[in-house]
Amino acid sequence: MLKPIEKLAKIIQIPTISNPDLKKIDYSQFDKFEKLIAELWPLVHQKLEKKVFPLKAIVFEFPGTDKSLEPIVLLAHYDVVPVPGIDTKKDVTKQTAPGWDFLPFAGIIEHNKVYGRGSLDDKECIASILEATEQLLADGFSPKRSILLCFGSDEEVNGHSQEEVIAWMKQNKINPWMVIDEGGAVVDDALPAVSSKMAMVGITEKGVSDIVLIAKAETGHASTPARNGSVTRLAKALVKIEKHRGQIKMSQVVIKMLQTAGKKASGPMKFVYKHSKGLSPLLSYLFAKMGGETEALVRTTTAPTQLQGAPAHNILPPVAKANINVRVITGETIQNTVDRFKKIINDPQIEVEAIMKNDPAPISDVGGVQWKLLEKALHKSHGDVLATPYIMLGGSDARHYSKICKTTYRFSPFYMGKDQRSSLHGFNEYLQIDNFIKGVEFYKEIIKGSSLKN
Ligand SMILES: [Zn+2]
Repeated sequence: MLKPIEKLAKIIQIPTISNPDLKKIDYSQFDKFEKLIAELWPLVHQKLEKKVFPLKAIVFEFPGTDKSLEPIVLLAHYDVVPVPGIDTKKDVTKQTAPGWDFLPFAGIIEHNKVYGRGSLDDKECIASILEATEQLLADGFSPKRSILLCFGSDEEVNGHSQEEVIAWMKQNKINPWMVIDEGGAVVDDALPAVSSKMAMVGITEKGVSDIVLIAKAETGHASTPARNGSVTRLAKALVKIEKHRGQIKMSQVVIKMLQTAGKKASGPMKFVYKHSKGLSPLLSYLFAKMGGETEALVRTTTAPTQLQGAPAHNILPPVAKANINVRVITGETIQNTVDRFKKIINDPQIEVEAIMKNDPAPISDVGGVQWKLLEKALHKSHGDVLATPYIMLGGSDARHYSKICKTTYRFSPFYMGKDQRSSLHGFNEYLQIDNFIKGVEFYKEIIKGSSLKN
């Protein structure tokens, strides 16, 4: 029989790469994945009811003994982002890729770690949820409220597969009691002057959108250019947006995060965090100055990611386009941001249009029975670690669920060092074996806590 970590290694070997263009997805890999998990976790497949949705979300129902209780939903996604340089038409387990120190899809286990794409995002959650369920089934355990394992197939490209699952839930009047999706991790360097480990539990997430700027102008030959062509105006617009950033805002969620962290802070910062509400103007100013992750907590961020001009080097482009990836802070909306861009750019010949519209997610409740269950599971699996509410900066499938469940939490129950966090969507993803086992323990405790009520 394979060890739990070996099962994770096996599922890493299948390149379930999603793509915003559904026609470009190799669904045969997703079918292979579905077959493989049936072999690796046989009891889950024998004893639970499985449902596969058109866009390949896979849902298992671990039926509860008390049908009057609403279910706990454990979310994860089995698609991964691509690894540039890997040819998925050939055997991926044998290929190297630039920037990687090991084979990205080989699922190598060495030095007490498992290596590969998806080992942190998010196949470790899939494997630990399935392993927790498998072990409890082997013990003959039945949960009191039902547990739904909902595995999305396209989280990395906007998560429509989970929308199908939610539509099915609505049809069947299923209102989740609690949802846990991937999200923040256990970290030891979240904030200055806090050295003890904190579990960052996302209780909301920033909105995400791609806003496109379209500059139009007369076309013509590059040998006789008119002034202020589409490219020049587009460039000016981008510079203005870079200069006039969004307002700084300290949301209730960040204040809550700082107050919680304050309990573990040392030195003068203990006082600052404790009084973060009164000091929020100063703190938000400092956060914005620090840049990076801290700045992203207090303002809507704008990242120009793609530019498009003429189809040839000597043509004046009639249309020049820029894509700006925008992450919207709680309290603002995507429409606000579009309106703000229009005002800043102040050029009637530039259109501003949002092509993806996910506003910031609603804020989940903290402190109730569900939160306490999460804390209890965390302490059992990870010891004395502080559960800290925070705003998730990236997007997750949980945003769909937070519309139907007020206790939707975004938390990956694994320790992640700074190098591991920066490997997400990048190079050299890996997870330690003991770390993975703690994740399995966490999910077991959550399932065992299904008898709690509020
Ligand atoms: Zn993910």
